[in-house]
Amino acid sequence: MTSSSLARIVEIVAVVHPDILLGPIQPELIRNEVLADLLEDTARRSPDQIALIFADRCVTYKELNQAADRAASALIDAGVKPGQIVGLWLPRGIDLLIMQAAIAKAGAAWLPLDADTPVERIAVCLEDASAPGIVTCALFSSRLENLGRHLWTIENLLTPLETPLQSRTGLLSTHPAYVIYTSGSTGKPKGIEITQGGICHFLRSENAVLGVRGSDRVYQGFSVAFDMSFEEIWISYLVGATLWIAPKELASDPEALPLALAANGVTVLHAVPTLLALFNQDIPSLRLINLGGEMCPEALVNRWAKPGLQIFNTYGPTEATVSASLAALRANEPVTIGSPLPNYGMLIIHPATENGLTLMPRGDTGELCITGPGVAAGYLGRPDLTAEKFLVNPWSSGAHDGRLYRTGDLARIDTDGRVQCLGRTDDQVKIRGFRVELGEIEEVLARQPGVGTVAVILRNDDGIDQLIAFIVPENGATIATGTLRAALGKLLPPYMVPGFFELMSEMPRLTSGKIDRKALKIRPLTVSPVGTASVGSDTAETVAE
Ligand code: AMP
Repeated sequence: MTSSSLARIVEIVAVVHPDILLGPIQPELIRNEVLADLLEDTARRSPDQIALIFADRCVTYKELNQAADRAASALIDAGVKPGQIVGLWLPRGIDLLIMQAAIAKAGAAWLPLDADTPVERIAVCLEDASAPGIVTCALFSSRLENLGRHLWTIENLLTPLETPLQSRTGLLSTHPAYVIYTSGSTGKPKGIEITQGGICHFLRSENAVLGVRGSDRVYQGFSVAFDMSFEEIWISYLVGATLWIAPKELASDPEALPLALAANGVTVLHAVPTLLALFNQDIPSLRLINLGGEMCPEALVNRWAKPGLQIFNTYGPTEATVSASLAALRANEPVTIGSPLPNYGMLIIHPATENGLTLMPRGDTGELCITGPGVAAGYLGRPDLTAEKFLVNPWSSGAHDGRLYRTGDLARIDTDGRVQCLGRTDDQVKIRGFRVELGEIEEVLARQPGVGTVAVILRNDDGIDQLIAFIVPENGATIATGTLRAALGKLLPPYMVPGFFELMSEMPRLTSGKIDRKALKIRPLTVSPVGTASVGSDTAETVAE
């Protein structure tokens, strides 16, 4: 460490409020770089290293880089440039990852969409992001013809070029790298835009602790529409590791998947706890499991902990760029979300902020806030919501913590400096790792003919997490629940369509007039909820992957 960086650390530490938790300050991880730089550096350093494996197809870093260059050049020829947001809708596999890299190399940002996203939702997101077009394939493109946007298919983008290769110009680390849409409580998904510099810093920051290396074989299971996929894909590109992509049938089979991971020598697994809990086989080749995206049960750690296998719990909302904190988990120790990653910070405020922000002392429970270079600028085109959740940090120490993001998570910083996550201040829930605002489903339901009052609840019936919609029909209208399910299926991703619709004559209410959600949580249902949890990305009962 140079004497000037040491002096800077001393200066920062001197002014940090004692109730604020800062991760290690490592300015060298904050660089003026973009995602494409990371991939290109690795392709130069290790051209023959295998980057991607899918079934019997292997692609080296050199081949990945060259294929992405070809497609990027075609996108640049079509007018795609830095600052623009381009849709990305493809089935899982190597071509999806080549196209993602191509958008990065063209200098644009991608807006990833799950393979099972309804076309109407795709249209809403592309419109909201003012996307000029979408990268897709011949198979999917017929469903997008009425979008009124450019459709770039892999088949066209990968045809050999007659013109010289074009490369990006004018791309800065402040330009957007990707936009992820998450459920929005007001009935419309909200877009979170993350910069090139923000995501590159995150990759370096998290891997400074995780330690994924070039010799690792990393499972690629997450949908690219979920930001934990960056931990798999782009940390691997950063260090030159090999990604092993499971075919869809295998990824959705919790019995076959662990056997395949073991047979293929996978050493690193990033997963939501719900997925790991479904595995009933050990995976001897694993040296590192990174859990995240939802609360991790202690019993799961006890089941998997063994010498030679590191288990981590990473925590963070999309708004703070993938993850903000990390804990090393050990058997028979309480599960926490640990302490901030390098250059991130965490603090707890009183949830009521009408009279300004009040910092809570260590040990007290309040709303968790995050600071650091990963905090996004805000929600695309939503200044009101942005102003509510992204605030000036009154306790800034100057260490890239000028702004803070209010997570809506209830938490406490223990005296030993570890953070305990204790639930939510609002109606946001996680269902098998997917983030859902119950209010968005309620809004969409309330727009359906015959629906009067509605409340959607996440319940655990018979060990299975289910969304249940409670509905009082309007003026005694007759509602066919099959029709409702079909209507919602056209507007919402499968994981947001309730497993069960319960019709009732009256909604239970508190004396204040508010819906009594606690009563709905325990109210017996007239028919058993449907569906069972299984692994896979294309059915309503999948886990986030
Ligand atoms: P997402 O933006 O989809 O990553 O969801 C972020 C939210 O998921 C957080 O605000 C938490 O409510 C929850 N979450 C993410 N990681 C964890 C974790 N490791 N433990 C507990 N909750 C988590």
